[in-house]
Order: sequence, then C-alpha cells, then structure tokens
Amino acid sequence: MKEYRIITIPGDGIGPELMESTIAVLEAVQEMNGALKLNLEEHEAGAGRYARYGKRISDETLQACHEADGILKAPVGNPAVRTPEGTEAGLLGGVLRTGLDLFANMRPVKLYPGIRSPLAGYEPGGIDYVVIRENTEGLYASRDKGVGGPEAVADTLIITRKGTERVVRFAFELSRKRNGAPEDGVRRVTCVDKSNVLRSMALFREVFFEVAADYPDIEAEAVYSDACANHLVIRPAHYDVLVMENMLGDLLSDLGGATAGGLGMCPSGNIGEKFAFFEAVHGSAPDIAGQGIANPLSLILSAALMLAHIGESEAANQIETSVWGALEAGEIRLDNKGRAVDGSQAITEAVCARVRGEI
Ligand code: NAD
Repeated sequence: MKEYRIITIPGDGIGPELMESTIAVLEAVQEMNGALKLNLEEHEAGAGRYARYGKRISDETLQACHEADGILKAPVGNPAVRTPEGTEAGLLGGVLRTGLDLFANMRPVKLYPGIRSPLAGYEPGGIDYVVIRENTEGLYASRDKGVGGPEAVADTLIITRKGTERVVRFAFELSRKRNGAPEDGVRRVTCVDKSNVLRSMALFREVFFEVAADYPDIEAEAVYSDACANHLVIRPAHYDVLVMENMLGDLLSDLGGATAGGLGMCPSGNIGEKFAFFEAVHGSAPDIAGQGIANPLSLILSAALMLAHIGESEAANQIETSVWGALEAGEIRLDNKGRAVDGSQAITEAVCARVRGEI
C-alpha cells in the first residue's frame, strides 16, 4: 500500500464546494485502487482566515506544506478583504509559489467533448496545449512591493538567466512527454515575449534559444505576446507547449481557458524542484458562491495532475478518462457561462460513477 500525506486548503467563495466534490472523486479513486491511500489533512488559509486572525496562512500550515507529499488548494480571495496598502489580503500566490520556489506554473488548455468552444470547428482534443507560466519572477516579483505614491507607483519586472533557464527547460521536458500539437503532431515549444520592446524580455528570448539547442528533437519558435493572443483564437491547434513570463502567462492562460469551456475547465500545477501544489486556475467566484452551480472539474482535474506528479499515473488517468467519458456521454452539461446546468453535485456524481465503473 502506498500512502501519501496530502494538504487540502478549501479556501474562500466556491472553494469549499469544489474541494468537497474533489474529495468525493479522490475517495472513489481510492475505493478502486486498494493500494493507494491518500491521508487528506485540511488546513484553513485565505481571505476568511485573514479576516478572522489577521494572517492569511499559519506557520503550521506552511510547515505542513513543506513536509507533505502533495498540496491541493481550492481558490482563495475575497475582494472585500484587503490589506492596509489596498491589495487583497487573502491571496496565497506569493506565500506558496515564491515561498516554496515553485517556478513552473503548468496550465493545460484542452477542449473536452461536449464542451461548446466559442471558436468554430474544433473537435474534442483539437485544442490541446499547455501554458507554462514562469511563477517566481517577472512583473509579479513586485507583488506587494511597488514603490511610490500617491501620484505614481512603479512595479518592477525582473527576468533572470537562472529563472528563465529552469522554466524553459521544464517546458521542453514537458513537450517530450506529450504528443505534439493537434494541428500537425509536431512537438513544439513556443517562447512568448515582448522582446521587441523590453530588455528583460529580450533576455528571456535569448536564454530560450540557448536552452532549445539542447532539444534538437523539439521545434522551437518565438512569438510576440500580442500576436500570440491573436493566434490562440485563430490557430490554437498550432500550439503544444508555450513558455512565458509570469503576468503574460496569467493573462494568456485565461484567454486559452475561455476557448475551451471557461475557467471551470482549467486545472493547474505549481511545480518546483522539491515541492508542488495544484489548484484551479480561476478565483473564488464570489458571484456564484453557495449556489451549487460552479463547475468543479477545474479542481478535480487539478487533483489528477497532482496524482500524476506524485507518480500515481494510473489513478490520474482514471480521473481524466472519467471526466472525458462523462462529458462525451452528456452526463455533464455546462451552460454558455461555464456553469453546471444540473448543479455541481451532478457533475461530481457523474465523475464518481465512471471512476467506480458503474457506467
Ligand atoms: P474568478 O476567476 O473568481 O471569476 C471570474 C468569472 O468566472 C466569474 O464570473 C465566475 O463566476 C466564473 N467562474 C470562475 N470559476 C468558475 C467555475 N468553477 N465554474 C463556473 N464559473 C466559474 O475571478 P474574479 O471574480 O476576478 O476573482 C474573485 C476572487 O478570486 C478575487 O478575490 C481574486 O483575487 C481571487 N483569485 C484567486 C485565485 C486563486 O486562488 N488562485 C486566482 C484568481 C483570482
């Protein structure tokens, strides 16, 4: 029997609803895999915790994250809970991503069956790429550190050779494990930058092509970020793996998500050399919290990424194929805003039934 200690953070807004669904799926997976035991350990963190105790995450939780085999985090944040400086108080990105040195934010964008893409003519799997967002530097290195005011404030964008090299290498290694772009089956890594304007981005591109030389089996190309936003709409099938600076990745992965059924279809992993945590790409969606209509697949698929990362690929595939099958058979229905037509609970039950082999 393989046992894993997994930290779960239910978060804020729709977070607890998504976590409940995901835990139900993980329980079904364990029922079907007698040799797999996930010891889930719930920790409170986020805006709710900040409002109660004046701190978004406890030292005990941070310590537990350092010791655990896996971390599964639901969305956090409440726009009404803010720091004295005016930024949101409940977000954990800085603490976890930077604190655990999770340099690669992996954001798959994949069109599943039964999902209506706003782009015409794409079959299931016809959009299937991964955005790798550098996670520890770039513009967000200035998180909570902007200087100036009240009339002008500057945030600094930092790109380092070391930071770029490791994330670009991660992108090429990932491409090696994939089947290439849907358009032509070519394994391809695309550098997305604004090197026509910013020196920092020119360094990013320079390092990208240095690393690319170590991967002659994979096509390497570069595109400016504004053109890339256009391409992700008019020719998404061209892409396999894209690697980019922190804020660019934040923006373009959301754009990608919109083409593949909305943010509720978007899982992610934050991965470093020693640690990793997995979360939905989207936020805590206060506008639909408590209504039971959020799509939990973002966190369910994040749990599958986590299982694959800890070496439980079979369990990960079981979740992925169950989600695919339930969508294909119409057992899961989403409206044009990406919300659960029959409720979040129905989605959870559909995935669990397929994991258990009941359908
Ligand atoms: P959001 O991602 O929460 O919501 C954007 C839109 O997408 C909303 O209309 C929402 O209803 C919808 N949506 C999101 N997830 C959905 C799902 N699973 N199913 C169906 N619809 C879904 O973005 P926001 O409203 O700008 O931010 C809300 C809060 O979340 C803020 O406090 C923000 O700072 C925080 N946030 C947290 C994270 C994180 O925890 N990683 C990421 C982004 C935003």
